[in-house]
Amino acid sequence: MSRNPREESVAVIGSGVAGLITAYTLIRDGFTNVEILSRDAHVGGIWARDRIYPGLFLNNVHGEYRLTPLKMPPPVSGGDRLSGYDMNKYFETFASRFLEGKIQFNLHVHNIRRPTSGQGWLLDISDLKSGIQETREYARLVMCTGGSSNPRIPQELSPEAAAAAGFKGLVMHTVDFARKIDVLLANAAPAESGPDTPSVVVIGGGKSAQDVCAYLANEGKKVTLVCHNLDPFTAGPKPLPEFIRKSRLLSLFSPHIHLRTALERLLHTTWIGKQIVDFVWHGLADSSFKAMNIPVDSPLRNTVSPYWHVRVNDEGVPRPNGFHPLAVAGKIEVLSPAHVTGFSEDGTSVSLDDGRSLRASVLVLATGYTSSWSPLFEENTIEELGLNPHLAEPNPEYHWDYTTLSDAPPLHPDAKKWSCSLYRGLVPAKNIHRRDFAVNGACISPNNGYTVEVASHWISSYFLRDQMRIAQTPEEAFKETERDAAWLKRRYPEVPTALNASLTGYLAFWTWPQHVDDLLEDMGLPVMRSGGNGLTWPFQVVDLKEIEHLKGERDAKRAVISS
Ligand SMILES: Cc1cc2nc3c(=O)[nH]c(=O)nc-3n(C[C@H](O)[C@H](O)[C@H](O)COP(=O)(O)OP(=O)(O)OC[C@H]3O[C@@H](n4cnc5c(N)ncnc54)[C@H](O)[C@@H]3O)c2cc1C
Repeated sequence: MSRNPREESVAVIGSGVAGLITAYTLIRDGFTNVEILSRDAHVGGIWARDRIYPGLFLNNVHGEYRLTPLKMPPPVSGGDRLSGYDMNKYFETFASRFLEGKIQFNLHVHNIRRPTSGQGWLLDISDLKSGIQETREYARLVMCTGGSSNPRIPQELSPEAAAAAGFKGLVMHTVDFARKIDVLLANAAPAESGPDTPSVVVIGGGKSAQDVCAYLANEGKKVTLVCHNLDPFTAGPKPLPEFIRKSRLLSLFSPHIHLRTALERLLHTTWIGKQIVDFVWHGLADSSFKAMNIPVDSPLRNTVSPYWHVRVNDEGVPRPNGFHPLAVAGKIEVLSPAHVTGFSEDGTSVSLDDGRSLRASVLVLATGYTSSWSPLFEENTIEELGLNPHLAEPNPEYHWDYTTLSDAPPLHPDAKKWSCSLYRGLVPAKNIHRRDFAVNGACISPNNGYTVEVASHWISSYFLRDQMRIAQTPEEAFKETERDAAWLKRRYPEVPTALNASLTGYLAFWTWPQHVDDLLEDMGLPVMRSGGNGLTWPFQVVDLKEIEHLKGERDAKRAVISS
């Protein structure tokens, strides 16, 4: 007789938002043996107390980031923007209120494999405090290791390359920013020093790079940003009204893999729809530049299109101490498009691809993150789960005649390298029938709290073997993930999905509400929960209240099916 899944052990790896809500949902669903294993010393993942830093603010276009069991208090420092400190406080409160005694810290999981019995999982774990190594066995596993844990450091800019070139300055990745702020400040020259004084050189155009630059400029330090291009952003003279920012509206101007409503079909499959969609996205980008007073010839305009990308920062109403206003005022030097190729021979500079060199006292690498999975699995585990990189074969069955995809930019060369076989961005297709392995947090969403919470219910139902609308065989599931892969390459061709496997399970991004509807539908639950009538539904505010009773809804469904 098969055992009751609720009595079997589950390891949740990671204590960020995904790990916390996954463990919470499993426990509420009756799983009696759930352990969170985290290599961190504190909860919160990227919002943990030793990773947050001054100037870190929540940048969600949707303006939300919380979980249903706990209300998010207003920002402590006033205003309408949650800081890193607010976020950290929130997750620490969540853990102490709901997960007391469930989290084991300082445990680095460094290998995951099947035991010889072929059932369950063996985890090789190092205790980072005591140095003790052990192997533990669990029946089920949820990977919540995030996509922003393991820094990506280009070889030519690594501390080793710096040492080999005799570079005298400090080299650090932004993952260490909070821990190294003091030494960074001590090595940074004042802003008013002459042109020959070395600068802090920050490499990258994303949120972390912009945060570091703004922080240093506000501290009166000399700082230069070098990047290929900058992340797009939204901004306006006033905060966007809730019926735009927090509704489904923006998501409708982005095509989803399938178009559920007549409005989406009108917008994405007709000529007039494309004109409207183009107008909205150009207008959004243009009005954001204007709100920030960015001159037309400024390198700050060297951004990618928000429509084709999955990292878009909501700057809201410009703040005089924010990145863009500081750069416009000349307090941050921005070199873009430009590329740092390595260290110069003089020991005090870095070289640029245009032949110039730049004097640097500190090199801050805001160069992103690599997958948190790759070091964790043995070759045969990767093979068994089907998470090994593979080229998605072009298949004429998978095509989308959307007018809004007609002038797509070319496919990034790295995006051609592989496809991810995570069904719904949650479970490896090849393992779908075994119901003992899942991933949460691999899907980039501008409303992360909502998305990971619905995903946690999906995972719990999957482990409980609830009746769900999901692929029944690995072959069926694999076919769907191949279709997803083809779709992602079509929808976000510039996003090099090969760069970070643990963040590219499924790039729902703008269409996160549609993605969440797919997950709800899999569980047999009502979709499009923000309500409204035929005219008002696109403008209804999406509220976390809509998913407050998911557990009860799933319980009721299960009861009906078993009666
Ligand atoms: C500087 C920065 C700013 C960001 N700002 C925003 C923002 O404004 N809005 C937004 O939506 N998103 C933002 N993000 C993205 C952010 O990563 C996600 O919002 C979210 O925090 C990810 O949560 P997670 O639980 O999936 O992963 P994480 O928060 O990264 O947590 C991963 C957890 O897994 C643990 N772990 C990893 N590997 C192992 C291992 N081998 N063994 C044991 N434990 C392990 C880590 O220690 C950590 O506890 C930001 C990211 C960064 C880096």
